[in-house]
Amino acid sequence: MQTELYINGQWVAPVLGGTLPVIDPATEQVFAHVAAGSAADIDQAVHAARAAFDHGPWPRMPGSERARYLRAFAQAVRDRQDRLAALEVRDNGKPLPEADWDIADAAGCFDFYANLADELARTPEEPIELPDTRFVSKAVREPLGVVGAIIPWNFPFLMAVWKVAPALAAGCTVVLKPSELTPLSALELGAIADEVGLPPGVLNIVNGTGPQTGQPLSEHAGVDKIAFTGSVPTGSRIMAACARDIKTVSLELGGKSPFVIFDDAPLEDAVEWILFGIFWNQGQVCSATSRVLVQQGIYERVLQRLCEESRKIRIGNGMDKGVLLGPIVSRAQYDRILHAIDRARDDGATVASGGRAAPGLDKGYFLEPTVLTDVPLDSAAWTEEIFGPVVCLRPFTDEDEAIRLANDSRFGLAAAVMSTDFERAERVAAAFRAGIVWINCSQPTFTEAPWGGYRQSGIGRELGRWGFDNYLETKQITRFVGQEPWGWYIA
Ligand code: NAP
Ligand code: MG
Repeated sequence: MQTELYINGQWVAPVLGGTLPVIDPATEQVFAHVAAGSAADIDQAVHAARAAFDHGPWPRMPGSERARYLRAFAQAVRDRQDRLAALEVRDNGKPLPEADWDIADAAGCFDFYANLADELARTPEEPIELPDTRFVSKAVREPLGVVGAIIPWNFPFLMAVWKVAPALAAGCTVVLKPSELTPLSALELGAIADEVGLPPGVLNIVNGTGPQTGQPLSEHAGVDKIAFTGSVPTGSRIMAACARDIKTVSLELGGKSPFVIFDDAPLEDAVEWILFGIFWNQGQVCSATSRVLVQQGIYERVLQRLCEESRKIRIGNGMDKGVLLGPIVSRAQYDRILHAIDRARDDGATVASGGRAAPGLDKGYFLEPTVLTDVPLDSAAWTEEIFGPVVCLRPFTDEDEAIRLANDSRFGLAAAVMSTDFERAERVAAAFRAGIVWINCSQPTFTEAPWGGYRQSGIGRELGRWGFDNYLETKQITRFVGQEPWGWYIA
């Protein structure tokens, strides 16, 4: 297992020394230490990425050649599937089957962007038709430059790959800053880079805290773009840091995503998708459907079934078979969620189910899956992201009210609707002010489809071809082909 910094194709100790402990949230045990980087290491990593971009082969080779490296990454991830999934469970806490999805999706993501790199090689330029026939013009797409990628702890490996795969496919070079809470799996990308012979400096990985490494990365003048996933306050700080040098920035921030369930929806399916929408990955999901709006006629029945099923969810170590709810990622997040539940109670909400530390587990950051009702519309539980296994349920009467309540948020990442009336579902989907809309489901995510938010949920889109465009600049090249001289100054 690698624990050092990966800079310019070498595993190196941090300039200032020092390590960060890595904690298993199911046992509270420190099971590894990783090198803690600082601004000095970020500076070296950015210089390596800069040199690899400005002088190295990576951005200059045809996309089809980069595609070969990306396919080798995909294969190397598949070869490590079991080990990477187990590492992810230990570092983050998530149930093993979910970690298995993450790793398989990550491999698929490398393959997907390999195909787009191939496509870029086949169609590197687009002719532009001009009314003035004395000129011919074309648009070419080129790699954007040096990318600083700052990622969160909820899907540590997958979030790294969502940024690294398209950036590398486009021909960019990367400095990756994982979360200090889950630093291990991303380092495997360095080991894979070694294995597949990626040119030095194309991918650099610097672990460290947000203030010690994330901040200097977003301020570094040698970086062309920051791609960030995480919280709104940190996203705002990063955007401010990027403003000085007019860096390109893409932000994937949080949400408080609504799920509207009409009374014609099949009840058991509705309950299943509500459960999945808020309890997978312990609710630590930016797109979690944490505000559930249920039409009056089926509200009581949905609430009852939701509470019954919530109480049956097996809580425990993510490595144990049958566990569907693992520990919260850290003590701080665990405390934050319990505090949010307490505050919801103070604000008048009813805890219909859960709401406490999981009984019978004396070690680990385990919480009960929690259902809140009577949540005031102006309370933090309704308006703010809790980022844990806590769902708010509220009745509504008609479509207009549902849409109004759903869109009444400063966020706009995801939204879901359930109804057997196809036209109504499409109408509501069109009315949602959100970047990701699910009909008759919640959460399924595909590498091919755009991912990102409206409003304070972020700027830009990841995944699909939209996620590729994130890492490309567009250049016009216009040629004068006139038969007559231009003749403006020299008659
Ligand atoms: P965060 O502060 O936004 O962390 C995300 C990433 O940014 C981490 O790598 C973090 O490093 C880094 N970072 C922190 N401060 C930075 C700075 N000043 N400049 C540059 N990078 C910086 O999120 P968090 O504190 O871990 O979680 C807090 C809340 O954020 C959660 O409760 C949740 O609401 C939200 N969140 C959302 C997502 C999402 O997918 N949208 C993911 C995670 C969290 P360190 O981790 O090393 O500090
Ligand atoms: Mg950990």
